[in-house]
Amino acid sequence: MSDETLTSYLGGRWVAGTGEGARVADAVTGEHLHVVSSKGLDLPGAVSYARDVGGPALSSMTFPERAALVKAAAAAVSERKQELYDLSARAGATRSDAKVDVDGGFGTAMVYAGLGRRGLPDGTVIVEDEPIQLGKEGLFFGQHVLTSRRGLAVQINAFNFPVWGMLEKLAPALLAGVPSLVKPATPTAYIARHAVQIILDAGVLPAGALQIVCGSIPGVFDLLGGQDSVSFTGSAETAATLRGDAAVTHRSARFNAEADSVNSSILGPDATPGTPEFDLFVSALVTEMTVKAGQKCTAIRRAFVPQRQLDDVTEAVAAKLSEVVVGAPGADAVTMGALVGLAQRDDVRDKVAQLATHATMAFGDPRTVEVVGADAERGAFMSPVLLRADGPDVGAVHEVEAFGPVSTLMPYASSEHVVELVARGEGSLVGSVVSFDDDFARDVALGIASHHGRVLVLDRDSAPESTGHGTPMPQLVHGGPGRAGGGQEEAGLRAVHDHLQRTAVQAGPGRLQGILKRE
Ligand code: NAP
Repeated sequence: MSDETLTSYLGGRWVAGTGEGARVADAVTGEHLHVVSSKGLDLPGAVSYARDVGGPALSSMTFPERAALVKAAAAAVSERKQELYDLSARAGATRSDAKVDVDGGFGTAMVYAGLGRRGLPDGTVIVEDEPIQLGKEGLFFGQHVLTSRRGLAVQINAFNFPVWGMLEKLAPALLAGVPSLVKPATPTAYIARHAVQIILDAGVLPAGALQIVCGSIPGVFDLLGGQDSVSFTGSAETAATLRGDAAVTHRSARFNAEADSVNSSILGPDATPGTPEFDLFVSALVTEMTVKAGQKCTAIRRAFVPQRQLDDVTEAVAAKLSEVVVGAPGADAVTMGALVGLAQRDDVRDKVAQLATHATMAFGDPRTVEVVGADAERGAFMSPVLLRADGPDVGAVHEVEAFGPVSTLMPYASSEHVVELVARGEGSLVGSVVSFDDDFARDVALGIASHHGRVLVLDRDSAPESTGHGTPMPQLVHGGPGRAGGGQEEAGLRAVHDHLQRTAVQAGPGRLQGILKRE
């Protein structure tokens, strides 16, 4: 890495922007790494290149051929994963954090390759249903087909998952025969860029299928219309700005948002100290607070506990958090790395201060932390912080997302009460119910479902195979209503269908068969 501008891959070549750009520093040492700028880059040319070169090449391939591309791209990333782990360490990620992003990324793409190979036809068109008779005499029928749109997929990602975030969007787009223009978040663009380089080095994708722009994308939305899509992951604020662009409001570019979310975990009244569910709840909470230093959109921000278990849970979580060793990724015994940068740490500290006006500090101090193998002030380190709000009806604890190793414990009185409290998050990506009681699990899982994209029920029986609260699965919906963005990603082949145009073809039965028989 050098003091240069990070290059972008546009129009079939690596190019560097000009101008001052944004300076990016190593999260652990504070050392300057490079500049990110897209100034002067030919972004309109990249849009045309995707549409004119990448789109036709991809959409003329059959689904199995595209699935083979996805598999080869995933395999290329897997083979060179160590390079991505090393770069991730500079963004503060421990080896296990990096695996969540990197292995999670190529693993997701592998799942998509398999879904595409097994679940899509050997052709370029999906026929969705049987012919539907529309007249009494059987002379006129209708049938739904899905075909590739002729535009491009603009994929805007958050800083916290530079590899997974990119690959979980790229794989369905490739399967759908749609070219991608990836725009990673500035703080970790170098990691996403390297993953793109690995895929391009493998030489498996047709020209124009994948481009990446490091830096901002001024003017790109002005070129988007009804054949294009924007898949956004990031804060609710940026989502709101982009959703209001004329590309979306006037020209109907498809827009999907995965935004921030104040996710919850709920302990059942049956799960008292000594039960497996009590331990599972404590352990999941500590994991979600500390993996990627809590910089996960799915992390547990609100932990609801029956009033009479609150002291025991506070004590058990604090005891486990006291075992966390904060420091440089790779340094001796370190279990939690740094936040992505000093600006992010400042933001989390501000958010903790907002939460602390309604809660007490049960563990940790956002301004002080003991650090192994690095300087606590030059690196973006922070202690895990557990807050406790004994009055759970206060707004801030349901509204403020501190995007770091921070969670708030609070009591509830009954199933109805906790369902109502969870709903005050205004829509989340994921909620967990940790209980061995059938009635409680049912009442709460179904009670909170309206406000979630995913609900995980955890108990002693499912725990050995549970994929965990914070892990989106490519086979299942990732997304959530309301504040969480109102969007949907993954969910198996639904993500591929989302890139395709559904058309009802109406004709006589023979003609219809003739049109669709080769598909
Ligand atoms: P962010 O500031 O909203 O940025 C997200 C992305 O949008 C970045 O790539 C950013 O680029 C880009 N962007 C900002 N303004 C733009 C504009 N006018 N036009 C086009 N792109 C624009 O969010 P972040 O700080 O990277 O990520 C943290 C947030 O993401 C958290 O709130 C977290 O909850 C959320 N998140 C959600 C999910 C999910 O799946 N729901 C996953 C991960 C994170 P620059 O960096 O270059 O400004």
